[in-house]
Amino acid sequence: MRVLLVEDDARIRLDVARALEAAGFVVDAEADGEDGWHLGDTETYGAAILDLGLPHMDGLSILKRWREAGRDLPVLVLTARGSWSERVEGIDAGADDYLPKPFHMDELIARLRAIIRRSSGHAAATVAAGEAVLDTRQMRVSVRGVPVALSPQEYRLVAYLMLNKGRVVPQQELADHLQSVHFERESNAVEVLIGRARRKLPQSLIETRRGFGYTIAG
Ligand code: CA
Repeated sequence: MRVLLVEDDARIRLDVARALEAAGFVVDAEADGEDGWHLGDTETYGAAILDLGLPHMDGLSILKRWREAGRDLPVLVLTARGSWSERVEGIDAGADDYLPKPFHMDELIARLRAIIRRSSGHAAATVAAGEAVLDTRQMRVSVRGVPVALSPQEYRLVAYLMLNKGRVVPQQELADHLQSVHFERESNAVEVLIGRARRKLPQSLIETRRGFGYTIAG
């Protein structure tokens, strides 16, 4: 799943981006508020992490603009320590959760996963579909209790479909979640990955809806 990070502090941006990548996410990291707003407005993300104090456009304005434009991606806001007014403003502007600085990377990842699960209608850290079980904390898919050896890309693909189970996911949406905007996309990347993931999973788990996309039954 692709996540947008907007944070102007270079150190925090780098540390968070690394931690997110290690946790299996694809990350687009921006330092500038206006650039961050534009990416969130034009690209597809599974979630965003927003700092509030940013150059050119502050985090609250970004969030308000996204919400006014109907962008409903889950958003985690980074606030100054002990600032209750920032927390209140963040929630009022449409944030799904907030985290005061400084924070532990583990807590950031846990909160991010929680808002993603809530937004896809799953409260628990695991999602079951047929004989397959996704565990987002372990970054693992198991079939009948046996972990499946998926590559990070295959895992992202299967996890995204499982978090959206019961819905047909268009191929373009899948492609958007598998790659950062800074990489050139190969047109058949999704088909290739689907093929590889299918060979490791129960045959009928991922269905193709020709002309529409892919789905895992709910
Ligand atoms: Ca800042």
